[in-house]
Amino acid sequence: MSYVKTDGIIIKEVNTGEADRIVTILTKNRGKISAFAKNSRRPRSNLVAGTQIMCYSNFVLFKGRDMYTISSCDVLEPFYGLRCDVFKLTYSAHILELVNDIIQEEQPAVKTLQLLLNTLHFIDKTDRSSELFTRIFELRFLSILGYAPYVGGCINCGSLETDKMSFSFKKCGFLCNSCTIEDINAQALSIGAAKAIYYIIHCNIKDLFSFEVSDSVLEELSRVTKRFIKDRFDKDYKKLDFLKSL
Ligand SMILES: [Zn+2]
Repeated sequence: MSYVKTDGIIIKEVNTGEADRIVTILTKNRGKISAFAKNSRRPRSNLVAGTQIMCYSNFVLFKGRDMYTISSCDVLEPFYGLRCDVFKLTYSAHILELVNDIIQEEQPAVKTLQLLLNTLHFIDKTDRSSELFTRIFELRFLSILGYAPYVGGCINCGSLETDKMSFSFKKCGFLCNSCTIEDINAQALSIGAAKAIYYIIHCNIKDLFSFEVSDSVLEELSRVTKRFIKDRFDKDYKKLDFLKSL
């Protein structure tokens, strides 16, 4: 018998059978895995809380031929607050969708897990902008995956001017005012947005959520991450569109 003990967060749940679930867990030790949670929808099951989406738990798993089976789990952080607010819930669901789509099964993902837990913590426990936390997550997540744009100056000529930078999706980095001719589709950035992007990519993770931006800078950040994600992963993520109708 092969048992594995690991901490992990449920990033997807699918009901199956009469009272079972198949869950996708982003774990500390095994990356993303799928696991069968037998009877976990029965109210008296000891798996009922820990196998719900967004719940972070310590799992004991049995490794079968095709899939893991959850033997037991102890809830470490339920992130209850995310379920009680439609904005927090929608931003969190968007983040989990990104992680589930992009992280491959059984690939080490310790940095992604740390970033995900920190982001959900700030969305859950504070009343600051969930949208800002989500944009920070997106940009830092892309960096962890190896898609960090070059933002230490102009990617074309190396100029360090910051007042008229634009973001080139084609060249994956900042362009200075004289070099914007290299990419006419680059998005112009305010100084605030350029500084925020630099900070998100380069700061220590413990300082990642410690800054605020104006509404207009947040709007710029959102345009950058949305298009960056679409270009890199060839998918339009639409969960957040629903919030505009509220
Ligand atoms: Zn330049």
